[in-house]
Amino acid sequence: MFLENTANLTKRLGWIEVICGSMFSGKTEELIRRLNRARIAKQRVEIFKPEIDKRYDEINVVSHNENSIRSIPVQSSSQILMFIEGCDVIGIDEAQFLDADLPAVCNYIANQGIRVIVAGLDMDFQGNPFGPIPAIMSAAEYVTKVHAICMRCGDLAHYSHRTVQGDKLVMLGEKESYEPLCRKCYLDQKVGWAD
Ligand code: ZN
Repeated sequence: MFLENTANLTKRLGWIEVICGSMFSGKTEELIRRLNRARIAKQRVEIFKPEIDKRYDEINVVSHNENSIRSIPVQSSSQILMFIEGCDVIGIDEAQFLDADLPAVCNYIANQGIRVIVAGLDMDFQGNPFGPIPAIMSAAEYVTKVHAICMRCGDLAHYSHRTVQGDKLVMLGEKESYEPLCRKCYLDQKVGWAD
């Protein structure tokens, strides 16, 4: 389990944390857990998510266990900067859908003394690095990779396999369209992989 860095708070340094993994790996639950703990510590918290993610709710970050938390929808990374005044902690969910400015924006916020927690998919359904997540992982002090359970064999899964046709990178409605798979099961289902 990730433990917050509480050492030497007098220096008032910010930092960046990344929570990444496949679909159904508990990224949002872990983000909410950390943000709720910050709130218990009486810190001022704001949460953002890209406007594209409208699966469940316009203004709430909603995880699969329906443990929800209010969030501000943004169309670009730089819009987050309009809301950081007076914040102690910034959370960003579904960050894979944000633009390439995200690492610079997060570095700027952390440099102001704010803790930044970014959650997002590290790979798309084809197994390629997803959006700004690889770059923000490079910039982060702490990276936590969480795992789902493979729907076919029960091992740890880190692939988000799309179970319906379509090449579009962004396709929402994930419960019907994706399943988490381990490396072996992901390779096994790839058509023609073995030939
Ligand atoms: Zn498997």
